[in-house]
Amino acid sequence: MDDVTRESMEYDVVIVGAGPAGLSAAIRLKQLDADLNVVVLEKGSEVGAHILSGAVLDPIGLEALIPDWKERGAPITVRVRKDNFHILGEGGHVRIPNWPMPPLMNNHGKYIVSMANVCRWMAREAESLGVEIFPGMSCSELVYVDAGEVRGVVAGEFGLNPDGTPSDAYEPGMELLGKYLFLAEGARGSLSKQVIAKYDLGAGHDVQKYGLGMKEIWEVDPAKHREGTVTHTMGWPLGKRAGGGSFIYHLENNQIYVGFVVHLNYKNPHLYPYMEFQRFKHHPMVADLLKGGKRIAYGARAISEGGWQSIPKLVFAGGALLGCSAGLVNVPRIKGNHNAMLSGKAAAEAAHAAIREGRQGDELTQYETDLRSGPIAKDLKTVRNVKPLWSKLGMVTSLVLGGFDMWVANLTGWNPLGTLKHGKTDAAATGLAADFPEIDYPKPDGELSFDRLTNVAFSFTNHEENQPCHLKLADPSIPINVNLPKYDEPAQRYCPAGVYEVIEDSDGPRFQINFQNCVHCKTCDIKDPSENITWTTPQGGDGPNYPNM
Ligand SMILES: Cc1cc2nc3c(=O)[nH]c(=O)nc-3n(C[C@H](O)[C@H](O)[C@H](O)COP(=O)(O)OP(=O)(O)OC[C@H]3O[C@@H](n4cnc5c(N)ncnc54)[C@H](O)[C@@H]3O)c2cc1C
Repeated sequence: MDDVTRESMEYDVVIVGAGPAGLSAAIRLKQLDADLNVVVLEKGSEVGAHILSGAVLDPIGLEALIPDWKERGAPITVRVRKDNFHILGEGGHVRIPNWPMPPLMNNHGKYIVSMANVCRWMAREAESLGVEIFPGMSCSELVYVDAGEVRGVVAGEFGLNPDGTPSDAYEPGMELLGKYLFLAEGARGSLSKQVIAKYDLGAGHDVQKYGLGMKEIWEVDPAKHREGTVTHTMGWPLGKRAGGGSFIYHLENNQIYVGFVVHLNYKNPHLYPYMEFQRFKHHPMVADLLKGGKRIAYGARAISEGGWQSIPKLVFAGGALLGCSAGLVNVPRIKGNHNAMLSGKAAAEAAHAAIREGRQGDELTQYETDLRSGPIAKDLKTVRNVKPLWSKLGMVTSLVLGGFDMWVANLTGWNPLGTLKHGKTDAAATGLAADFPEIDYPKPDGELSFDRLTNVAFSFTNHEENQPCHLKLADPSIPINVNLPKYDEPAQRYCPAGVYEVIEDSDGPRFQINFQNCVHCKTCDIKDPSENITWTTPQGGDGPNYPNM
């Protein structure tokens, strides 16, 4: 609504997103100058509520930010002791020994953590330094000044009716304005997407690529639990249908994270990523581990996979992209938290220097330079050809060729394969339904595998029903008139939360959006073959409530 009058608050730096990137930036700013006014805005009901990643953390980022993190009680205690990599066939598996892997793939010495809990701890550290953190505040709009630079965001708008008109309880939210705005929204951030388009930040860079990551937390039989063990797999059940694989991390208290990533550049629109994950748990190696255990939480989130060649220009007048808003995941390592933290630190240092010089609202070029020449660049450049090789040549060839390229780059800093391109966006990669076979997925058994809606209940997601649907269709006719005949409307399957349904009514098929189920993974914004769906923020505090993931 354009005619709304809002109060505004002035800060030195406004940060959108209380993930590892945003919190690192906030902490670093206050470490450098305790007098800076810094605010962090988070759409989750609390810090950590929307942080899915149950992760293997490379502590390099945290070491650089808070060197005494151990003494300060960071919830980072489970060291990786065993690191397994298996190629699965339907009934068996082959373990690939660690020695052919480039050293960067080694997980020994890293930590198995709940990133939600790490973020909760980082938020306490930030608050103790004087950072203001407001959870339950969705940042729904950018605020620009006439010259075209970004000045801040609108956050905390509540009480719109489903048709977008203000209800009696309407609160317009506030404008939070800063000398600089940091967008640390994670993969496919909704405001980040807008600034990337407005300032053409992707020009001269490759397209961004994504995977869909799904994860469950299980409590397993203590006799089967091996604290500190990390297992990754490739192969079955995806086979040649899509890139991706699984991870199984044993943390403490007999809990394990079981997760599955499907690269979103798959062609067959009949593919059902959620059901691939459920099927995976029936592999004898996994089923043996899970039998007798209990699934206690579920969630899903897109993961950026484009790597080095897909990082857009990072700065624009008045702001910067941090962490996975810029796509800083190292794909073969499945790690992005360390780079998120390092990027937050680098952006904070650039903003601090600029503010000290009396600048504001310009481009923080120092941040761009630091990121493209420092440890993040080294981490991502080495592995830059793994994803394009996998997309073009499949798993086996990419393991051999990608492994060779990584080994040489690791030893010499030079990639013999140069920089390979990704090609199409994930949306454009989707093929026609008629050209691909349908896939027959086994019914979940309710013990190891679960139907989608039952599992969504374990994400503890919640959306106030009386608000506009936050999943916007540019053209409401496209799902039934275009996507259904051409692609068998893949939204029914790619969404890991059952948000999208095609209902057969007496007068024909109808597209239904159950936005209340949304777990904020952003897959629809990425994979819709007609690029017709835009994910926007629902009102603050809505969405998943991940307990300990
Ligand atoms: C399944 C899966 C497994 C992974 N495993 C690992 C691993 O083992 N190790 C590893 O290092 N990395 C892993 N990653 C990658 C890692 O999660 C990311 O690199 C990391 O989360 C990026 O941090 P970030 O701070 O940029 O974004 P995020 O962690 O996504 O945080 C963004 C925050 O911003 C908030 N936000 C977003 N938009 C708005 C808005 N408009 N208004 C207000 N708040 C907003 C979100 O709610 C969220 O809290 C994994 C990712 C996935 C999906």
